[in-house]
Amino acid sequence: AEVAALVASRVVDVPDFPKPGILFKDLMPLFADGPVFREVIDGIVAHYGAGSFDVVAGVEARGFVLAAAIAYATGKGVVPIRKAGKLPRDTFAASYALEYGEATLEVHRDAFIAGHRVLVVDDVLATGGTAGAALDLVEQAGGTVAGFTVVMELGFLEGRARLSPRTVHALLTV
Ligand code: IMP
Repeated sequence: AEVAALVASRVVDVPDFPKPGILFKDLMPLFADGPVFREVIDGIVAHYGAGSFDVVAGVEARGFVLAAAIAYATGKGVVPIRKAGKLPRDTFAASYALEYGEATLEVHRDAFIAGHRVLVVDDVLATGGTAGAALDLVEQAGGTVAGFTVVMELGFLEGRARLSPRTVHALLTV
């Protein structure tokens, strides 16, 4: 609860980004604050426990920042889940619907050791489309999903329900 209040105090609301009518939650000021960033990472690690996962996967791009810190703090490795066309070797791909059109995420085919437990991280859960694709990719690539965590969940968009029966951990739900 203390971490939730810290997160809430650092998030900046940006109206009409990336397009008119969208209120974007900017978590970058929180990443830029050393003590708060550490609380966020420690909060995530404490929730899962370092023994519950083998590797951390971050969703491009802000998920990379969180994933790297969680991985370093727990002595694990970090794997990128990237937007289409960015990874240099053979990939698995998963597409999901956007309001207009669709988007695709990719992961290297050999990203995970078979059966390794993968903690998947992103900054914000909105509709859950991104997360659903990321979790599908982990399984396609032979990993087991150990958990999905975000710093902030936009509860009114019902991403959590969309991901069910998979579970979501959020430090703060608004
Ligand atoms: P979803 O696929 O609708 O759940 O959107 C989640 C993805 O979009 C995540 O990768 C987030 O980084 C990004 N995103 C969506 N809304 C926001 C926001 O308000 N602030 C920051 N990132 C967001």
